[in-house]
Amino acid sequence: MKLDQLRSFLRSTTARLAVSYLAVIMVLSLSFSFVIYKTSSHELDRQIPPSSLFTAGSGVAGDDFGYHHFFEQRADEARGRLIGRLVLLNLLVLVVGAGLSYYLARRTLEPIEDAMAAQSRFVTDASHELRTPLTAILTSNEVALRKPRLNLAQAKQVIASNIEEMSRLKLLSDGLLSLSRQDVPIDPKPISLQDCAAEAMNQVLAAAQAKHIAIDDKVPKLKVMGDAAGLTQAITILLDNAIKYSPEKSTIYLEAGKDDKQASLTVRDEGIGIAASDLPYIFDRFYRADLARTASTNGGHGIGLSIAHKIVDQHQGQLSVASTPKKGSAFTIKIPLA
Ligand code: ADP
Repeated sequence: MKLDQLRSFLRSTTARLAVSYLAVIMVLSLSFSFVIYKTSSHELDRQIPPSSLFTAGSGVAGDDFGYHHFFEQRADEARGRLIGRLVLLNLLVLVVGAGLSYYLARRTLEPIEDAMAAQSRFVTDASHELRTPLTAILTSNEVALRKPRLNLAQAKQVIASNIEEMSRLKLLSDGLLSLSRQDVPIDPKPISLQDCAAEAMNQVLAAAQAKHIAIDDKVPKLKVMGDAAGLTQAITILLDNAIKYSPEKSTIYLEAGKDDKQASLTVRDEGIGIAASDLPYIFDRFYRADLARTASTNGGHGIGLSIAHKIVDQHQGQLSVASTPKKGSAFTIKIPLA
């Protein structure tokens, strides 16, 4: 490792955290060593017979043979050996502790680094999504402004395209707001799944009628634990996608059922379907499958399903998908019964 690399490593958060961990380990190890030394030293002192034993009334005429000194010397030697071992032990703790501290620091920082990377990816993706409609608005306005004689019809066309792009922007900002709101936990209450489905159908009725798509609603009366507004939003997203990615005059089926603990609601369409290679990614933010890009001109920004997924997660439920390209898709929400 070059000196510069070493310096930047030492300045890194991982190194700083590792040093803090190591400092704690060493303080503990040194304190224990000190306590061990003190108690052992005290014990050794206690084992030295008192000098009076070798002098007055001891039966031994004076400490001529230096017995007391001999015991003291042995105690000092033992103390020396103890210090040597404790120093060795602390060196070992330092080496092993350094490795362990680095490992722990990496483990502590990994989830934080992942979250920061996800955050920065989100900002990049969101900025990218914002740029496309903004560039379109800017270009069409600049071109219109440069025209020496702009007639009313042309001006109206520019305004219409501006409005279209701005509604895309509004949809995106609503979606982003919705995504951030889903980080807050919900307060689940017993609610009617049938009512949520009916409300969601109401919201997409105009879009379905525009494409002459029929929605076959077979949701029975079922009570689930959840937040009515959130659940309605999740079903609306699934219905909205089903309409977007289905041909005109097709049918969308809305079905529901239950087992011991959970209710399940499925939105099934006869649309373009999703390629197996796209399936693992469709719940990711800003992901749009190629099939969808080419088939739908009024596509969104690829955040609808991630919002739906977050809402279902908040409900302690699962959102799954089964799809066959050119045949259709079925999205199923499973959430706990009330
Ligand atoms: P978008 O706004 O692009 O619809 P979503 O997050 O709602 O974003 O969906 C992500 C992608 O999943 C879509 O771009 C599309 O490729 C695919 N998808 C979602 N629902 C369907 C569906 N019912 N039929 C086919 N593809 C779908």
